Amino acid sequence: MSSSRTRQPWHVPHLALLVLLPVAWSAALAWSFAAETVLGTWLALNLAVLMPAEKWRPHRRDWHADRRHLRRDGVVGGINVMADAATGAGLAALAVTLLPGSNPWSLGVQILVGLLAAELGSYWVHRWSHAEGWLWRVHVTHHLPDRLTASNALFAHPINAVYDKAAKLGPLLALGLSPEAVLAVALFGITQALVTHANVAGTIGPLNWMLGSAELHRLHHSTEEAEAGNFGTTLPIWDQVFGTYRRGESPIHVGVFEAKRYPSEFALQRLLHIPFKKVGLRFADAIRRCCPLGAH
Ligand SMILES: [Zn+2]
Repeated sequence: MSSSRTRQPWHVPHLALLVLLPVAWSAALAWSFAAETVLGTWLALNLAVLMPAEKWRPHRRDWHADRRHLRRDGVVGGINVMADAATGAGLAALAVTLLPGSNPWSLGVQILVGLLAAELGSYWVHRWSHAEGWLWRVHVTHHLPDRLTASNALFAHPINAVYDKAAKLGPLLALGLSPEAVLAVALFGITQALVTHANVAGTIGPLNWMLGSAELHRLHHSTEEAEAGNFGTTLPIWDQVFGTYRRGESPIHVGVFEAKRYPSEFALQRLLHIPFKKVGLRFADAIRRCCPLGAH
């Protein structure tokens, strides 16, 4: 079985985007483009590389995203990009007021620490999101699809987009990292989020020990609980530190265990309501307990 993995080609789009990233970052700084313009353009460029690659060399032919999937991911992704940008702008404004100091470290150290800090924040909110609580009712939307594609990376509840952004950006602002370092971390985060969901065949080989990959992230989406670790998407270091790192063959099924408990992945209105459903029921129970007459 292991020979089938060793025969895999290199995941060229992943490696090419990582090589291109410092070039894009340097160009953005040289021309002083606005951060949101750079991030939006980089997101579009990554999709423009990965989506044709999904058709050219898919990891699974039966995971092909048809128009219905693309339309859904486009609508939800558009909302989430705006939610992400608004959260970033709000947190940055807050940081200017509350944390006016700057960081004295060199740019290289800031980027390195920024990558680790952003991933640590993201790792823990993601891991807490998989506990059976309110965060899971938010996060389950992202796990409902029974296939993984690049556009699927954008398919999540908008609340998920907001708290994930806060978990990644908050530590960077608290450390007082420079805008240049924050931009580098954000560009890396976009590439890693899209690549790890992309339905593109290939391996990054031993780099799986130090870099998030589609191979690792497909296991996170497995319906088999024993396989479903790998909460990190950019770097696997915190999974390795906290014992949730998984390696192995690609899962047979991705999605959620007991999918019948949840609305269809295309029922967007019902998915939006999931996080509020139980809260609403609890509120109704409280009303019934406190004001029995009101219940009639
Ligand atoms: Zn997850």
